[in-house]
Order: sequence, then C-alpha cells, then structure tokens
Amino acid sequence: MGKINIDDNIICLKGVGAKKQERLLKLGITTVQDLLEYAPIKYRDRRAVVSIDAAQDGKTILTVGRLQRKSLRRYGGAKSIVECTFVSDNGNFVVSFFNMPYMTKSLEIGCDYSIYGKLSVVRGLRKFVNPEITKLNSANDERGLLPVYRCTQGITSKDISKLVRNALSEIESIDEWIDQDIVDKRKICDLVYEYNNLHFPKDEHHYKVSRYRSIYEKLLIYQIAVSLKKRYFEFEAGDSSIGNYNELEYSKLIDVVGFKLTEDQISAIEDIRADLSSSKPMNRLIQGDVGSGKTVVAESAILMTAMHGYQSAFMAPTEILANQHYEKIKADFDRLGARTALLVSAMSVKDKRDVLERLKDGSIDCIIGTHALIQASVEFKNLGLAITDEQHRFGVNQRKMISSKGVGVNVLVMSATPIPRTLANTVFGDMDFSIIRQKPVNRLPIITRVVSSDSRKRAYAAIRDELDKGNKAYIVCPSIDSEDGELTSVNNLYDEVKGMFKGKNISLLHGRLDKNEKDRIMKEFAYGDIDILVSTVVIEVGIDVPSASIIVIENSERFGLAQLHQLRGRVGRSNIQSYCYLVNYGKSDIALKRAELMSSCDDGFVLSEEDYNLRGPGDIMGTMQHGVVSSNTLSFMKYTDILELAKEDADIMVDRANEEKLSILEEIVSRISINDTSEVI
Ligand code: ADP
Ligand code: MG
Repeated sequence: MGKINIDDNIICLKGVGAKKQERLLKLGITTVQDLLEYAPIKYRDRRAVVSIDAAQDGKTILTVGRLQRKSLRRYGGAKSIVECTFVSDNGNFVVSFFNMPYMTKSLEIGCDYSIYGKLSVVRGLRKFVNPEITKLNSANDERGLLPVYRCTQGITSKDISKLVRNALSEIESIDEWIDQDIVDKRKICDLVYEYNNLHFPKDEHHYKVSRYRSIYEKLLIYQIAVSLKKRYFEFEAGDSSIGNYNELEYSKLIDVVGFKLTEDQISAIEDIRADLSSSKPMNRLIQGDVGSGKTVVAESAILMTAMHGYQSAFMAPTEILANQHYEKIKADFDRLGARTALLVSAMSVKDKRDVLERLKDGSIDCIIGTHALIQASVEFKNLGLAITDEQHRFGVNQRKMISSKGVGVNVLVMSATPIPRTLANTVFGDMDFSIIRQKPVNRLPIITRVVSSDSRKRAYAAIRDELDKGNKAYIVCPSIDSEDGELTSVNNLYDEVKGMFKGKNISLLHGRLDKNEKDRIMKEFAYGDIDILVSTVVIEVGIDVPSASIIVIENSERFGLAQLHQLRGRVGRSNIQSYCYLVNYGKSDIALKRAELMSSCDDGFVLSEEDYNLRGPGDIMGTMQHGVVSSNTLSFMKYTDILELAKEDADIMVDRANEEKLSILEEIVSRISINDTSEVI
C-alpha cells in the first residue's frame, strides 16, 4: 500500500531528517515529486560483466578480476599512489588509486572484485585509474543501468538513488493530469512508469519511453504557460489604448537623441505605435542584436505613453543596468519635459519613499529600476506601459503583478538573445515581435581572432596594447569550479592575470558573489579605474562600458555561438576599434567550426541559426551514458517535433478547461521557471 503522497514534503521519507532536508533543498528538492523529477545526469551501465580482453581503449566497462599484488608509494609530501594487479581468465590488468592510501588496507589479495571504470590500453597494458571497486557479489556490487545524480555537499549520488527507491516503493499511483484523450493520442506512458524508468531503466527501450514523457511533459507545461498567458491577455485585460501617436513628439525625440534612426528601429517604433493606439494590450518582444539600439525604441514608447498622460515602468535585470538606463533616459527626457525617476534598493529609505509618493500622485512619467518595481509595494497613478530589458521571459505571475498595477498595461520586452526563426514562434508563441537586424552605421566591426591554447600569449599581448591606449579589457572563462580539471577556473585565471599585469587594477567577478558585491565591481569597472575584469559569464547581460575594447574568452569551445556572440557584444560599443580573442582548447570539428564562424560572422541571428544546426535536433538516447543529460525545459526546446505536438495539445487543454481545471493548470505552470533562453541555442 502506498503511504505517501507525491506532494508530501521530502521529510516524510525514511532516512530524511532536518539536516538532509536542508541539503536536498540546495538541489531544489522540497517535495517527493521534486525528488522524482530530479533526473539522473547519466547512467552507469553495470548490467553485464565485460571480459577484459574484449573491451576497447577509452570504454567504460564493468569487469571482474582477482587481486594478485598491491603496493603503496608515497611521493611529493602528502601524495600517494596504490597500484594493484588483477588477474582474470582473459588477461591481467592494472588498477591505480591516487591519494587513497587506505586502499592498501581494504583490498585483500586473492579476493575477487568488480571493477567499473574507464579502461585505457597503452601498448598492450590494460589499466584503470580510480575506478569504482566492490567485492564481487557483495551488497554494493549492483547490476543494472544505475543512475548518477548531480549531488551536493553531504549528499551523494548513492543517497539520492536510495531515497528515490524509497519513494518509488512507497507510492502506489499518481494522478494523471494530462487529458486522457491526449495521453492516448500521444501514446505516452503513465507517471509511475516514467519515474521508475527514468531512475532505474530496465533497458534502453524503457528509458526512451520514460524520457519521452518527461520531455513531452515539460514542453507541454511550457506551452500551457504560453497559452494561459495569451488567454489572460486577451480576456482579462482592460482597454489599453493610450491614444494616438503624434509626429511632433517623435521628431522631438529624434532631435534629442541626435542620430538618424535605422530603418529597423523606425519600423519597430511603428509597430509599437500601432499597438499603443489599439484597445488590445501590447504584448511585444523587440529582438535586437547587442548594440542594435533598442533603448531608443523603448524611449519612444515611453515618450508616446507619457505624452498622453500615462506612466511607464522600465525594468532592468541589475541595478547597474538600471542606473545606466536612468542616466541616459533622464538626460533625453529632461529636455523633452518628461519626468524620470530611479528606484533601486541602494537608495535611502527617505528617497525611496519620496519616489513612491510621486509615482502614486502621478508626478513621475517614467520609473526605471530593477524587477523590484513590480514586486514591491509600488503604486502607480495610471501605469500604461511596462518594459523589461534583457529579460528573456517572465512568468505568468509577474505579468499578473504588472497588470494589477494598472488597467490594460502594455508590455514591451527587449531581448538581445536571437532566437532561431525555427524556434521563435513556438518559444514566444504568445507575443508579437519586432526584429532589429541593422546596426547603427558608425560601428567598426569587432575583429575576432581564434588562438589555440599554445598561442594564448597573443591574446594577452593584445590586452596590453589596448591598456596602453587607455582602454579596458574583459577576460572571461566558463566556470567557478573546475570539476573536470580541464576548465580554467576563474580563480586560477585571476591569479595568473595578476602575475602578468603587475601594477594594473584587476577585479574578479563571479556568480558566487552576492548581488551588491557584483554591482559594486561592475560599477567600478564601468566608471572607476579598473583596467581588467576577470569574470565568469555573469557579465553576459547588457552591461555597457564603451571604453572596453577587448575581450578574451578562455575555453571558448565551452560556449555556444549565441553565448559567444553575447559576450563579444560587451566590446565594440563605441567608435573605437575593438577585439575579441577566442582561446580555443577544443579539438573537435564542432569547436573549430564554431570558432571559424565567430570570426567570419557578426550577425547574431545567423549565428544562432548556425549553432542550432550544428547541434542538430535532439536525440533522446544521445546522452544516456556519456554526456550530461540535461533536464530543464529550455534544453528540451531542441526537440522541435515534440515541441510542436505539445503546442497543439496545450491549446486544446487550455481551450476546454473549466475553472477548476484552469486553476490546476496554473498551479502546475507556476512550478516552472524560465529565465534564460541562452541554453536553447
Ligand atoms: P542595445 O540594443 O544593445 O540595447 P543600445 O540601445 O544600448 O543597444 O545602443 C547602443 C549604442 O548605440 C548607444 O550608445 C546608442 O546611443 C547608439 N545608437 C542607437 N541607435 C543609433 C543610431 N541609429 N545611430 C547611431 N547610434 C545609435
Ligand atoms: Mg540594451
């Protein structure tokens, strides 16, 4: 009999106390369902023992041998190596354990062991380094396709696997939430089957069937969110027209900004003008490559809104970006007679109160800030327009919050992430969009060079040249921890760079810093005297430092084209010549092709399309045993055929849902969060 419910807190499982509960929370696991949804990142194939002479170099295998000899050697202070020789009917092999001196004690000569690991064959010598080793037929000597989970301190992959087994044995049935005719039509398995085989697949076929459901289900939820949003916008919002746009206002803005708009900017403004004068709320995405000039488009929307007596809220993802927009927009609007204010957490309580007051009584036309603008106790007199910058998506709830601050609020989202055309309609199915492809005419193309790891000195010499000219430099690397040794960790890089550029001001930025610290460092780089910013990808979004003229990207093979392009867009933001160096450690064809494309092309849309083609459509089995199986909704977008089906089904489900079903769907939708499309492409 099932004793637990899928919605129950994880603490109801045997073996979970307060401490474990807290650790699981770090992995995003609160409920039993979260645990069951926590998909393995890969599987160990311990189904069958492979004889040592049958396996090839580089293959990960399970084999069996009898321990014949063992020895312990210490070197370099605390380091050690245990070397073991095993014999089997099909030949001998060697196993080494680094820095596990206790292995000499625990392994017994003459005993049979199961060894699971990557085999290397060098000149006939068969060898494993740090493999999993268990006594043959002991309790730990498991057979099957076994899950490997991403874990955290205090929780091993084994712990998670055990908890999942527990949970699966305690649950009897799980209610189906997808309409039965759709389940039948798509021939998807039920949830019990899915969870069982996602974690402990009986074989490849079972895995495939359950993985299919999990992909389909995530995409269905996503499409339901899109569908609900659309419905919400069409049915619940009030009249949103702010009146007709006026040529005079427009020409005033052009006088103020002091440049000639590109055709694409003009046509985006025309789109907005049409939206704002119609009674249906605007719900528009402006897609424009970095530096294509989206801000002025936003400004014209704000201006149209202000001139007709409505207020606008302009939301940026970080305080520093909010500050930047504020400075720029205020300078323009002061001359046009529109009243602009900033609202960020760094302000004093008194200043904040003052701004809130003026927003409420209508003496501010445009408020610029972070997302706190729509979340905090901010009241508007008559909000007519909400703009989010560099934010790829925002959820139903946030939309509701915006709308609750006014009647028929128009929404404008600006994104620099080019979504391939093949995906755009399905991913942004609920929005209209305008695309800005042209760059302002005065830009020099960024010179992009690819260097191999052996010649990375050239990239650093180029940094020196730029610093000598009084410019600034970014150096970017992929991740903080070097879990797999190959990654240049940002800390090491920082130390190295400090050694190379003595006497220069160098700062370090990464995702583990708290938000205020990040903002402070960014600000110092933008306006202070920091010469070089060493960083992980946290600089990706929107920052504008015109004097930065060079960016060096380490391990560039680790990034997708779209992301590289975003990073490259941090430079070349003024009329000085800028450079991008890609330090490529990758040898694969794809890595080289990518690097080549980057140096020959600077159109974000073309690059995103190419990237998508390079990766190819999704292959369900592709990563089962090797790569990391990704489980977030965005990574599933590449399954375009499933995405299409999900869209069709989502519309059907939402269309026929009654009030009760709608609230169930809203609750399901609220569990997903999508805040980064960069992973799609
Ligand atoms: P993004 O689309 O990345 O947000 P911005 O709006 O920040 O780009 O514009 C980048 C820079 O280009 C700004 O300094 C802006 O003033 C300038 N700019 C925008 N449009 C034009 C144009 N039509 N002609 C010349 N410069 C422009
Ligand atoms: Mg911008």
